[in-house]
Amino acid sequence: MTDSQRTGSTAALRKRHRAVLPAWLATYYREPIELTHGEGRHVWDAEGNRYLDFFGGILTTMTAHALPEVTEAVAAQAGRILHTSTLYLSSPMVELAERIAELSGIPDAKVFFTTSGTEANDAALLLATAYRRSNQVLALRNSYHGRSFSTVGITGNTSWSPTSLSPLQTLYVHGGVRDSGPYARFSDAEFIAACVEDLEDMLGQAEGTVAALIAEPIQGVGGFTHGPDGLLAAFKEVLDRHGILWISDEVQTGWGRTGDHFWGWQAHGQSGPPDVLTFAKGIANGMSMGGVVARAEVMDCLDANSISTFGGSPITCAAALANLRHLLAHDLQANARRTGALLRSALEAAELPVVREVRGRGLMIGVALRDAAAATATLEHARELGLLLGKGGRSGDTLRIAPPLSLTDAEAREGADLLIEALRRAGA
Ligand code: PMP
Repeated sequence: MTDSQRTGSTAALRKRHRAVLPAWLATYYREPIELTHGEGRHVWDAEGNRYLDFFGGILTTMTAHALPEVTEAVAAQAGRILHTSTLYLSSPMVELAERIAELSGIPDAKVFFTTSGTEANDAALLLATAYRRSNQVLALRNSYHGRSFSTVGITGNTSWSPTSLSPLQTLYVHGGVRDSGPYARFSDAEFIAACVEDLEDMLGQAEGTVAALIAEPIQGVGGFTHGPDGLLAAFKEVLDRHGILWISDEVQTGWGRTGDHFWGWQAHGQSGPPDVLTFAKGIANGMSMGGVVARAEVMDCLDANSISTFGGSPITCAAALANLRHLLAHDLQANARRTGALLRSALEAAELPVVREVRGRGLMIGVALRDAAAATATLEHARELGLLLGKGGRSGDTLRIAPPLSLTDAEAREGADLLIEALRRAGA
């Protein structure tokens, strides 16, 4: 292929993508978009169209697109040293680990950096199974935890779990979804009691030791669904009795996104923090970083050597430190709470027949629709109107809204108007 053939149109790129990348890599839209650049809460495609970004690359843009502090920190670090492996001391890595350990709420915490959420959950499972000397793990139905061999094994959402073979023995409990079946009619207290009973029942059936329960405080790919506040605290009481570790997968719910809390687990924090917490997505504002936080006793339970070539590289740590400083200095958690409430109330006030439920917290809002076809149609209409959205849910019937956390009030109103118009067109 010549160079001029390589730099063709988006249509040509779609064809080349199909030819050379795996068929199972999902893309949005009938005609997938080629994004070229972004600024603030907006992105542009190769055909010059501008979009208000209500999905932030599945929450990877945590604060804002092309945040100058992050760009400068990355450029400065790139001009200094790129040596990455954990064989040498690195000041950005230690400083970031200290900040995250402190923010995590986990006492005596240590941090291990990875390059993705999948790898973070994989490391959490390695720690928990080694610590408890068992490969039995509890997960929630409808969960998503990654695409590696171990993490698809704990992913309850079958449309994202391509193999039933797994190095783990996974037992699925209720707790993430309550919008269908008999659980839908339960009050919060009844739902919690039923889920705890289900957990106890599962533990009764498990043979021998169970290592951990892994749960997303709000299920991301699952359609921004969640149990009532306090559910995971009720689970923790049972887990503590059995010595089972609680792993909170905060890959989508961390860093203030849920508005009221810095971490998703804090909506369930009555009985204390999780034993292990995993993070990824937006921490380095689009650069590949994930990680695990755990009590030192758990983190240090491995007794063979390990190493990471890229996890916590000076560049991604510099990006994450600049991003985190910006987030905290501008109290973007409070911004998520305020703009999220604006968005929710605009959507609820529109009373659209195609909408079954508006749910979520802060700037993590799920809009469950009549069916999957309505969600697909809304995504297409929103695109035509200049708004990017996400999609999810067990049957793909839910729109996911998770803009960069610096969303302004005016952008929240503008986005709500565009979304309502797209929903009207889809419901017509
Ligand atoms: N956990 C959760 C809750 C996620 O939403 C995701 C990604 N969608 C992952 C883990 C995996 O992260 P990554 O794609 O960075 O491997």
